[in-house]
Amino acid sequence: MTEQQKANGHVQTVSVDDEPTTGVEGSQDVTAELCALAPIGLLAELTHRCPLQCGYCSNPIELERVANELTTEEWCSVMRQAGEMGVLQIHLSGGEPCVRKDLEEIVSAASEAGLYTNLITAAVTLKRERLEGLVKRGLDHVQISFQDVDPENAEHIGGYPGATQKKLDVAGWVTEMGVPLTVNAPIHRKNIKSVPAYVDLAIKLGAQRLEIAHAQYYGWAFLNRAALIPTYEDTLASIEFVEEARERLKGVLTIDMVVPDYYAKRPKPCMGGWAKGFMNVTPAGKVLPCHAAESIPELEFDNVRTRKLRDIWLDGSAFNAFRGTSWMKEPCRSCAFKDIDYGGCRCQAMAMTGDPRNTDPACALSPYHAEMVNFAKEEASKPPTEFLYRNPRNAAKALKAKEETLLPAE
Ligand code: SF4
Ligand code: SF4
Repeated sequence: MTEQQKANGHVQTVSVDDEPTTGVEGSQDVTAELCALAPIGLLAELTHRCPLQCGYCSNPIELERVANELTTEEWCSVMRQAGEMGVLQIHLSGGEPCVRKDLEEIVSAASEAGLYTNLITAAVTLKRERLEGLVKRGLDHVQISFQDVDPENAEHIGGYPGATQKKLDVAGWVTEMGVPLTVNAPIHRKNIKSVPAYVDLAIKLGAQRLEIAHAQYYGWAFLNRAALIPTYEDTLASIEFVEEARERLKGVLTIDMVVPDYYAKRPKPCMGGWAKGFMNVTPAGKVLPCHAAESIPELEFDNVRTRKLRDIWLDGSAFNAFRGTSWMKEPCRSCAFKDIDYGGCRCQAMAMTGDPRNTDPACALSPYHAEMVNFAKEEASKPPTEFLYRNPRNAAKALKAKEETLLPAE
């Protein structure tokens, strides 16, 4: 792939030299149509292992076992296939991607496939020499999450003493090496007052981008939402601050914001539309249209171990389940916004209404909207509670509790 193609990202047509992939059949050319339809981004969840234990984590409660993780060669094949089908950006995430000892080989494979390679890391185990090695292999961008700006609170939220200084060190090395840095600020009740301090931190660190991401309630965050939902007033104040800071810091810092659904009037176009521009590969190789899609029980997911990535993207049943707008029910079906927000989030519709085809209750036109807003306001008005740390021990407890609630009463 040429530098031009790499810089622009997208490739209009590519002839694929179909290297065999484990358990996958034969060769074909990728058509211009496929490239035009190819997802912009692929989130590669390399592992669910993580030294931190954040209660707002969107990973599923049932964390994937190490023994089930894709091998080095399988991940490298995913990178090559992604490059061939016209994906632009690869986001190496987890869990904590740096716990994979083969991260170097995966980064090399991604870079050789012409992918813009972004490492999303908690940064507490990353050493300078390793970062230098990754950059030499083609790492293009680093995103570091800070659980708060205040070290004590941050380390309480992440359950990892000494984390802040390690993150600050890594952020310094990233910018010293001339690699673009994004500061990730996952926002919830326990740190929402720090939004202005996050802006100061991002500027001090020389970050190009700050992502103010209000928690989305999937996985562990859904389990812990009573402890995480901020008040309406604090939420509004944080949004107003960000809007003002964006104007003030134009040309200095880009601030992206994921707004909290529970107090919204219109839903976000979740993933930019189901199966429209994004795919997610889990540590064990399942390919999902969004990272929370496994919460929809009726969906079946293909695996890169048995099917080519491009076939899954084009023909996978989970990808086609809510692609476009033909699956919609009212009020979305006849709404003027249906091609703009795609009816919001399927996983949230599932979680809050029991039917993924329903309008996302974040929309004021949903019959469930008032219930959702009232629930959020009520939870936020209660005294703060502690959340359940995300770790394998608590996962076992949470799954056991869930099983017991499903057992018929004696
Ligand atoms: S949110 Fe926290 S626990 Fe979850 S993967 Fe990121 S750093 Fe690890
Ligand atoms: S009714 Fe559906 S399409 Fe219309 S604004 Fe609400 S979520 Fe979007």
